[in-house]
Amino acid sequence: MITAQDRLSETSPPFPIGPGRTLGIIGGGQLGRMTALAAARLGIRCHIFTPDSDGPAEQVCSAVTIAPYDDFAALEAFANAVDVVTFEFENIPAASVAHLAERVAVRPGWRALDTAQDRITEKTFFNDLGIATAPWVPVDGLDSLDAALMKLGRPAILKTTRLGYDGKGQARLTAETDTKTAWDSLKTDAAVLEGFVDFTCEVSVIVARGVDGATACFEPTENVHRDGILHTSTVPSALTPNQAKTAQSIATRAAEALDLVGLLAVELFVTRTGEILVNEMAPRPHNSGHWTMDACHVDQFEQFVRAVCGLPLGDPTRFRSMRMLNLIGADADSWPRLLAQPGAKLHLYGKSESRPGRKMGHVNMPTDQF
Ligand code: AMP
Repeated sequence: MITAQDRLSETSPPFPIGPGRTLGIIGGGQLGRMTALAAARLGIRCHIFTPDSDGPAEQVCSAVTIAPYDDFAALEAFANAVDVVTFEFENIPAASVAHLAERVAVRPGWRALDTAQDRITEKTFFNDLGIATAPWVPVDGLDSLDAALMKLGRPAILKTTRLGYDGKGQARLTAETDTKTAWDSLKTDAAVLEGFVDFTCEVSVIVARGVDGATACFEPTENVHRDGILHTSTVPSALTPNQAKTAQSIATRAAEALDLVGLLAVELFVTRTGEILVNEMAPRPHNSGHWTMDACHVDQFEQFVRAVCGLPLGDPTRFRSMRMLNLIGADADSWPRLLAQPGAKLHLYGKSESRPGRKMGHVNMPTDQF
């Protein structure tokens, strides 16, 4: 029997949420959709809380609440209707998370969400663990940007501390860039300047952590971005076995330090000298983990469901080589050709409107023969 105490504590003794129970998901995008599909395979229902109607997750879940993230009455009704709450989107107001956490188990908890919401908090968290990031300086105006540029030099990357994604909320400052134009383009008073990392490749790693503290890491994947948006994720990556172990240990140590229950994705740069630097993290399934859907015994979405529902973690081992290609905007119009391609596994998100830069789906292409 689930006691009130169990419901309120993220680290309470494990209680499994199994078939017939309901997982609440905050956010209604494609990550929620693929989580709900994975939950359904285990007989678990999903109730989505999203401000937008007819989103990708709503189309495949058993219940939906359409309301703003700060609608406390709607949040309360949602908390009462589900057995555990998780997030496919981490930028949720603190008060809303607190409101939920008073009523139902919330996984991951506020610490992980709070750390991921702000680049300065996030970089401080990693640096305090002794994990390197690109050099960085907080910036709150033009004067402090000038001082930060003196310290870090050019090129450098200026990023808003909050709500940046897919390269949005960023400006690259080269020798030619006018500092004021770059600062004004961000439209913020809270930013961070990062030294430019001359990386040989970008990789990411996803770790799952269960209610009992057990962890399971997926293999690191090598990522290529175009216009700030993930383009491809490839496994195996170019990392040496030692670098792969380092990447996995960074993600695992971070998940443990956050006392996180769920998934933690960590994006990393590999420098020309072979050093591994953290770029950023996300406490949820990640676009760079979509290859796991067709290449691992248990994929990131099922692993996420298992972790937040207090079920045993599954086997994340990869059984084939894979390249994931994101379908951005009009790329998804080629779906008939992709469907006809032998071996290709097509995943479309059910978005009614295609826009440039919008993630419409992805295709997993096996790269090995068997
Ligand atoms: P982000 O939104 O921080 O993940 O940045 C999007 C992409 O911009 C990254 O995946 C990199 O390709 C590039 N980028 C971000 N920060 C840096 C940096 N400090 N040095 C070099 N490239 C970067």
